[in-house]
Amino acid sequence: MKGNSDLGIIPKDRLRRIPEPLRVLHEAAFFFHDLAVSALKEYDRPDLRSVAFKSKALAAIPPEELKAMDGIDLLRRIGRDADARNLMINECVLALISDGLQFVCEALFSYEKGKIAVSLNLLRKPMKENLLYLEWIIGNDKEFFQAFSSLDRLEMNIGRIRPEKRKAIIHDAITRLACLGPYSADALYSLRYDKSNAAMEPLWHKAAHLVTTQNANFTTEPENFNMIFASEDVRQDIYGTIGKWYLFLVMYFYSISITALERLHPLHAGTIFYNDMCSMVATTLVTGEDSALNSIIGELTEFTNQHLPCPRCGKNLSVTDEDVACSFFSRTLTCSACKSEIEFDLYELMQLEKRHSDLNIS
Ligand SMILES: [Zn+2]
Repeated sequence: MKGNSDLGIIPKDRLRRIPEPLRVLHEAAFFFHDLAVSALKEYDRPDLRSVAFKSKALAAIPPEELKAMDGIDLLRRIGRDADARNLMINECVLALISDGLQFVCEALFSYEKGKIAVSLNLLRKPMKENLLYLEWIIGNDKEFFQAFSSLDRLEMNIGRIRPEKRKAIIHDAITRLACLGPYSADALYSLRYDKSNAAMEPLWHKAAHLVTTQNANFTTEPENFNMIFASEDVRQDIYGTIGKWYLFLVMYFYSISITALERLHPLHAGTIFYNDMCSMVATTLVTGEDSALNSIIGELTEFTNQHLPCPRCGKNLSVTDEDVACSFFSRTLTCSACKSEIEFDLYELMQLEKRHSDLNIS
């Protein structure tokens, strides 16, 4: 059963250490993590990870050699370099998302257990590294592959990629995003790489080292170690600071993941529509600005009025500002007449399968 300060996605017992106003943000962050895991499972199929072709060149390869080759070596051997490169980049996409999500998941679990320094350390790699490589693939896969296969390994060292270049990689990726979002290259760069106080970098440094001296913004105070001597007030401050950023970053990681996965197969138009609406609802949680919700509430209410009467009292279920987040993230609505909590399949209710033909996207 959910309360006013949560979405009902995560059991209350697990949320007890998180300050109440931040619980909804945390649950929404987990929601996007779970969506990304589902997308990854859907795309991790042999038919999407293979190339079909006919080639007379195969006959020239001795059978025992052929048996020992993987697909990428084989494609290169017979001169299909573009296919080999494409296959390898697709494998990079799946691996970068899978690896990143493992860190994100554990970061979110640590966050709810109150292990803030551990959580920050776990979130650092996927948000600074996995994301940037995925962004690079989305924006310019040829350039990514050139660096990926270069003997000069420094070309792939995130710390050696100039800040202007990192910002350009982010910019190129967000212009190709598969779904809407409140993203700007400057804001994303600042949040992930800036050493100023209004960013994750000072917190990531403090979480990773007991004593930090490189920058005035995260110099350790005398008679202190970073984070481990933090008072309860300081811990609450950190929770407050990172609560919205965690949701923002995980939502962005999801958007980048599904955009990169489109290399393997186009997304369904209904999925894009659904993702756009979820992103808009989550954005209102991050920014507190809810003017964009009216159109979503209107659209959802139209569907509930047509197809979802309350199974207990038969009255129409209408969506309000208060429960729109529950509608999307935990797929529940509360009947205003009898107060029953109704579970429903949002995807089915909004007939998103049909969006395929409505929007004429193949
Ligand atoms: Zn009812």
